[in-house]
Amino acid sequence: MDKNRFPTLENYLGKESTLQDFPSKTVRASNSELQLPYQLFIEAVAQAPIAISITDKKANILYVNAEFSRITGYEPKDVLAENESILSDKSTPRQVYYDLWRTISHKKTWQGQLINRHKLGKRYLADLTISPMLDADGQISHYIGMHRDLTETYQAEQQVKNQKKLIESVTNLLPIAMVVLDEKDQVLLDNHRYKALVSDLDIKEPALYFLQLLREELGELWQQYQDKQQGFSQREFRIERKNKSARWFSCSGSWFSETVSLADAFFSQESKRYLILTLTDITKQRNQLEEIHLQSLKLMMAEDAQVRSLRETLLGAIHQLQQPMNQIRAAEQILQLKQDAQQQHLLLILQEIQQSGQKALATMENCIPTLAPAALMSLNLNAILHEVLLLSEPRLQNHGIALDWQPAHQLPSILGSENKLRILFKQLIDNAIEAMAQQGGDDMRLKIVTASDNDWIYACISDNGPGIPADKRAKVFEPFYTTRLDTHQAGMGLVMAKEIIDQHQGLIEIDVDYKAGCRFKLSFPRYKNRLEAGK
Ligand code: FAD
Repeated sequence: MDKNRFPTLENYLGKESTLQDFPSKTVRASNSELQLPYQLFIEAVAQAPIAISITDKKANILYVNAEFSRITGYEPKDVLAENESILSDKSTPRQVYYDLWRTISHKKTWQGQLINRHKLGKRYLADLTISPMLDADGQISHYIGMHRDLTETYQAEQQVKNQKKLIESVTNLLPIAMVVLDEKDQVLLDNHRYKALVSDLDIKEPALYFLQLLREELGELWQQYQDKQQGFSQREFRIERKNKSARWFSCSGSWFSETVSLADAFFSQESKRYLILTLTDITKQRNQLEEIHLQSLKLMMAEDAQVRSLRETLLGAIHQLQQPMNQIRAAEQILQLKQDAQQQHLLLILQEIQQSGQKALATMENCIPTLAPAALMSLNLNAILHEVLLLSEPRLQNHGIALDWQPAHQLPSILGSENKLRILFKQLIDNAIEAMAQQGGDDMRLKIVTASDNDWIYACISDNGPGIPADKRAKVFEPFYTTRLDTHQAGMGLVMAKEIIDQHQGLIEIDVDYKAGCRFKLSFPRYKNRLEAGK
């Protein structure tokens, strides 16, 4: 083939030629009366920033533009009359060429990627579009090929994909559950450990569950952390599971921003915030700690019980002494009114008895041990009840009492004193055990349920013992009143329980509708409500 039959624009125009040299031929612009110089179209192709080649029906090159030379390394003189296959690296699968030719020979446009070889031998990935050009009879006369070098874009895409794979492999290897959430709490990325939590905890989307707990616990702080992208660490939560032992998780999180990659945000540089949440199962560590804690708790509660018992004994003794003292005072007043000289001696004795009696009472009052003041903190009733139940376990087992413990799956906090609440629940549980054990029977059951609503946290303790007769229900909260026959009980347990409930701004009542035994219903204001009330 004679290469000179296929001049390039430069051959054709000559180096110094300009558009003005060809004013004669014009083309009518589409949808307009405007006549554009024919040469403008030729220059548009010549200067287009994409490699353009025009071939005959057999892919023999008739024309290439400047960008073609830049990308392929071939000058027009190198490729004119050569087949486009000169660009082929011979590593593109044959099927690609087969599809290409089948498409274009059916007068359709083909678009795809091929591996081309630069004149100097370097491979590059070509993003190629080939369109057939039709003559006046609608037959293919030429093909026009347009391609660009996709190597860098492809490399960048591959890098992103590889990085994603690397991140996924690393996150999957992590010994903790991890999840990335967007601003709408949608899970964008998670790892194997996280996926395992779904079945372990029987929660559809554990991240949402933990987010709710975190927002609840952190309150206003959550928004502040989020705004400052500050992050939080080691927030521990106890997760109750139906008929399974509870699990403990430590939650940490940090926010990061990413520039939005959508076209709309190209100029605005809008950014989006994401949260990385990690969940570490700390059940084992917590159980070990719990064991140690339980031992010290036993000691502490035993000491506390001793102090309270001493208080009760002394208060009871003072209460009992008060009555004869009052009688002596009354007798003294009668003698004084009588002004009988013969009884003067007796009057003096009565006064002496009174003085020494008052002295003894004062001494006893001084001996009443004081209870240490308790610090208030955010508490979870489930955790406290769980501890108390662990402490009570041996007693329950000794008496053959079955425990039905139904903690709320998710329980908001209350503001309170850990120790006092422990004493409160221990008292109520001990009372229930004692009542059931006294009555005896094969089917003794202690049921404890916790629940909550918008304002209150509830705890309900029911036993199937003898119950408290209706006429005595109000009296059991009075000092030194006991329904028990054994005299060693001072009857101060429920007084103390009521006192503790009052200190927590809560309520305690005996369920009048419960006939199978005794049921105490306790309610405590939620932490956030108490905070708001205190403002
Ligand atoms: P070839 O022997 O040339 O062809 C391989 C197969 O392609 C054949 O088995 C047959 O199925 C089919 N085929 C080839 N020619 C025809 C034809 N005339 N009619 C019907 N089927 C045919 N290839 C590249 O590698 N890189 C490019 O950048 C490139 N750009 C092109 C631009 C245009 C405008 C055209 C029309 C083709 C282009 N080609 C390009 C395709 C090129 O012509 C070759 O077909 C291809 O390079 C394979 O070359 P080959 O020597 O390995 O195999």
